Amino acid sequence: MRTEKEAVAMIDPRNLDTLLHPGFDPKALKEAEPVGRALGASPGAACGKIVFSAEDAEEWAKRKEKVILVRLETSPEDIVGMKASQGILTGRGGRTSHAAVVARGMGKCCVSGCTEMVMDEENKTFKLGGKEYHEGDIISIDGTTGNIYDGAIPTVEASVSGDFGRIMAWADKYRKLKVRTNADTPTDAAKAKELGAEGIWLCRTEHMFFEPDRIGAIREMICSDTVEEREAALNKLEPMQQGDFEKLYEAMDGYNVTIRFLDPPLHEFVPTEEKDIEELAKTKGKSVEEIKAIISSLHEFNPMMGHRGCRLAVTYPEIAKMQTRAVIKAAIAVSKKIGKNIEPEIMIPLVGEVKELKYVKDVVCATADEVIAEAGVEMKYHVGTMIEIPRAALTADEIAKEAEFFSFGTNDLTQMTFGFSRDDAGKFLSAYYDKKIYENDPFQKLDQVGVGKLIKMAAEMWRATRPDIHLGICGEHGGDPTTIEFCHKVGLDYVSCSPYRVPVARLAAAQAAIKNEK
Ligand code: PEP
Ligand code: MG
Repeated sequence: MRTEKEAVAMIDPRNLDTLLHPGFDPKALKEAEPVGRALGASPGAACGKIVFSAEDAEEWAKRKEKVILVRLETSPEDIVGMKASQGILTGRGGRTSHAAVVARGMGKCCVSGCTEMVMDEENKTFKLGGKEYHEGDIISIDGTTGNIYDGAIPTVEASVSGDFGRIMAWADKYRKLKVRTNADTPTDAAKAKELGAEGIWLCRTEHMFFEPDRIGAIREMICSDTVEEREAALNKLEPMQQGDFEKLYEAMDGYNVTIRFLDPPLHEFVPTEEKDIEELAKTKGKSVEEIKAIISSLHEFNPMMGHRGCRLAVTYPEIAKMQTRAVIKAAIAVSKKIGKNIEPEIMIPLVGEVKELKYVKDVVCATADEVIAEAGVEMKYHVGTMIEIPRAALTADEIAKEAEFFSFGTNDLTQMTFGFSRDDAGKFLSAYYDKKIYENDPFQKLDQVGVGKLIKMAAEMWRATRPDIHLGICGEHGGDPTTIEFCHKVGLDYVSCSPYRVPVARLAAAQAAIKNEK
C-alpha cells in the first residue's frame, strides 16, 4: 500500500496535461504520419478547416465551422479569432511568443514556429510537406508534440475523474509554494480558480486594450499632441478598465490580484489597415498623412528593448494615473460588494533602475491616496515590480527599498540575459540542440546556471533587505516542473502560470517539497 506522499511523488506532472486537454484518438493517431513538425507551444489536439485571418476565424466559427487559425505570427489584434478557433498554427515564434502565451492562457492547442511552412497569407495558402494548403482544407495539430497532420484525426475530450481532485488535495498538503495564475479575463480567472489557483500574480493589462470598444480610445491617446489630449482619451478608457478589474476581483472572490501596468511598445496598438487609419484621422481631426507620420515615428529597430514597460509611465505618467484610478476604484467597489477587504497589488514592469521605479511608484501612490481619500475608505495597497532586466536583478538590494514585492518575469529576463529574442530564437535554437550546446529551450525550462543565478542572487539580496515581503515568478517557466523545483529551493513564495497549468504547478510544487525534505 502506497502512502499519499509516495503517490504524489510518483506522478509525472506532464500526464496532467493529457487529462486537462483534448487529445487525438490513439487508434487513429497510430496510422497518421505528420506532414510537418514545429514547437508544441500549448498542449492539446485540434482538427479543423484552415483560415488565415482572425476575422475569418470568427466568421467561420459563427457558422459552426471548426477552424484552425494559421498565421505567420499572431498579435493582440488576433485574440478574438484565436478564441474562435480550435487551435493555432504559426510560422514564427517560440514558447513565449504572443500565440503561445495567449493560447496557453485560453487552454487552446497551439503549434508555433513552423519554419518549414512556406506561407502566403495574402493569397491564403501555405506549402508544407510537399503539399499546398488552401483556405478550408482540413489539418490536425498536436500542441503537445508539435506535429502537424494532413486531414482530420478525431479528437477525444479531456476527462477529469474523481482521482484528480484527490491527488490534487494530497499535493496541496505537501507543497510550500503558493500557486497563482497569469490571467487577464474573468473567464480565465474563474477557470484558474476552479483548477486551484490562489490568486492572480500577473494580469497583463494591455490585453484589455484590444477589445473593439477600447482600441479606438487607446489609438486616440497614442496620437495625442498634448497631455490634456492624452488625458481626455485616457478618461474614456478608465471606466472600461475599472469594469475589467471589477470583474477580475469578483471572479477571484477575495484572492489577491496583481495587476501589471501597460508594458508593450505603443506601436503594437496603432492601426495597420487604411480604413482604420482614416477613421482615426477623422476622430483626431488630423490628416491621414499626419497619422501615418505618427505611426512611423513609433517605429523602433528593437521594440523589445525600446519604449516599453515602465518607460511608458515615465514619459506619460498620465497612463499610470489612469490605471491606478481604475485599480483602486474597482477594488473599493468590489470590496464593498463581496464584503471582503481587497488589497490591490500594482506591478510595474521592466524596471532596471531604482529611480525609475521610485518615479512611477510616487505617481501611483499619490493617485491611489487621492482616490482612497475621496472615497472616504481605508484601503491598503501594494506597489511592486517585475525583475526582468538583468540590471534589476543585480541591483535588487536597491530596488527592494522601493518595491513591496518582486515577480521574476523570466520571459524577458531570459531574453535579456541570453541576448536573444524570445520571438526569433526558435529559428536557430534547433542547431544549438543538434550541436549539444543547449539541451533545452531556455524559454521553457529556466536556465538555472545563468538566469537562475540572477534570481538566486536577487532573492538573497531581497531577503536581506525586506524579509517580510513576497517573491514569485510569472514568466512561462512558472508552469514548468523543473523550474518549480528550483523556485522551491531558492525559497520563492509564489509560482504563477496560465490557468490550465495550475494543477501541474500544484503537483510539481508538492514533489519539490517532498524531494527536498530535510
Ligand atoms: C515576462 O517577461 O516573463 C513576463 C511575464 O512578462 P511578458 O511575458 O508580458 O513580457
Ligand atoms: Mg516581460
